[in-house]
Amino acid sequence: MPPAAAAGSSIRSGSSLEVNTVVIDFSLSNEQEAIRALAHEFAEREVKPRAQELDRMADPAAIFPWDIYEKGNRLGFNKTLIPARYGGLGLGEVETCLVVEELSWADGGVGSTYFVHDMQLLTLDDHGSEEQKEKWFRACAEDPEERFFMSLPWTEHGVAGDLNPRDFAAGRVNNGPILPQEWAMRQVVPPAQQREMTTVAIDDGDDWVINGTKRFITSAGRSKLLLTSARKGADSPDMGMGLFLIPADAPGVSYGHIEDKMGQRLMQNAEVIFENCRVPKADELKDYMTRPRVRGGDVEVAAVFNGISRRAYEEALAYSRIRYKGGARIVFHQAVQLAICDMAIKVLTARLLMLRAAWQNDQKAGGTAHNGMAKVYCSDVAVDVTDKAMQLFGGYGYMRDFPMEKLYRDARLGPIYHATNEMIMVGQLTPWLASMDTIY
Ligand SMILES: Cc1cc2nc3c(=O)[nH]c(=O)nc-3n(C[C@H](O)[C@H](O)[C@H](O)COP(=O)(O)OP(=O)(O)OC[C@H]3O[C@@H](n4cnc5c(N)ncnc54)[C@H](O)[C@@H]3O)c2cc1C
Repeated sequence: MPPAAAAGSSIRSGSSLEVNTVVIDFSLSNEQEAIRALAHEFAEREVKPRAQELDRMADPAAIFPWDIYEKGNRLGFNKTLIPARYGGLGLGEVETCLVVEELSWADGGVGSTYFVHDMQLLTLDDHGSEEQKEKWFRACAEDPEERFFMSLPWTEHGVAGDLNPRDFAAGRVNNGPILPQEWAMRQVVPPAQQREMTTVAIDDGDDWVINGTKRFITSAGRSKLLLTSARKGADSPDMGMGLFLIPADAPGVSYGHIEDKMGQRLMQNAEVIFENCRVPKADELKDYMTRPRVRGGDVEVAAVFNGISRRAYEEALAYSRIRYKGGARIVFHQAVQLAICDMAIKVLTARLLMLRAAWQNDQKAGGTAHNGMAKVYCSDVAVDVTDKAMQLFGGYGYMRDFPMEKLYRDARLGPIYHATNEMIMVGQLTPWLASMDTIY
């Protein structure tokens, strides 16, 4: 028996075709279960009772519940992915997903605040220099205020036709419609010439000088560190981009419009404006564009939507067990049973895919597209499950004093942000599938 197989039991030992059983254990370890239970208990006690009221606040600038986040950070929720040698908890993506899932069970916006922060910790860990990690991981782990979050200013206004999307929405005139015969024309700009990113870093001695505006940025105005993308040089294409570590209160950084969102209102999203912002060259993530990205936070965003799905399923099941209609509790009606089973199957498969992707990341086995699959599937499931759960509440599902309308609004963000599910399928999953013999 080859050494690698010694731990398993051979079922055709000695033959040339030797098959060994491999133990697949789907249970959480005691430590993982303890972390999950801690996050759930916090979510139930601190987040759930206040989420609906905070979600209703009209002014998006007034919502961000620092007291909730500070308590969560004291428990270590913003430090799970920081290696222990920098003062963090040194946990993996499996444990981080369990935390994000439980927080999102209580409120998707709280879960998303943590997921976006976690995504930046992964990028810093994978692409940062030793000095950068020592400085910023420690700043997070030892923050006396327990307010350390990171943001990713990447997305920009872009254009709708020749207009900014908000100018378009305000009814300003475009430069003319596309003619129907042009729809069929495939217009692909070569990557070397693509310039959708307008934020530019200009080389100036020991510094980069950054100008530009970013949009929709999670935790902007609340976070302490910005991991900012910018094209290096006025003439460089999007591919000639760099990623820069910029303190949130650095000279030349300001914050603009705070978004008034449909859901996930307990996270804050705002514009970040860079005006002649000087960034020392030592603060660039040097190998970000040259080393392939392995851990991109896709699986942590999947965790947000698994939390929302599970909560919707639990609420709908509980309601269907007490609601009496048509001569029975509605849970005894077959149509309701079909919906409940469909939700349960999707909630479980989504969670398995998330855990599989997170576990693979923790094995450092190299990049896999299971991360992207988890993001797409889990966010689609959340939209589907919250929709079905709302249906089981009948008219009450549509009422704001019941939980379903918020869960539905919170879920709907999933296929849109991080990158749209279409973008992930086109840009990440299809090239991967085309190169693989098996999807397992
Ligand atoms: C609540 C929220 C939080 C966010 N947080 C952050 C953040 O922290 N940092 C950050 O940088 N960004 C953030 N974003 C931005 C988010 O990542 C983008 O909105 C998202 O990537 C889509 O980009 P867009 O809005 O420009 O849409 P567009 O790119 O204009 O997409 C419009 C439509 O075209 C489709 N489309 C676009 N390109 C392709 C393609 N190549 N192939 C097929 N279809 C395509 C899209 O799927 C979509 O249906 C956030 C957005 C929201 C709503």
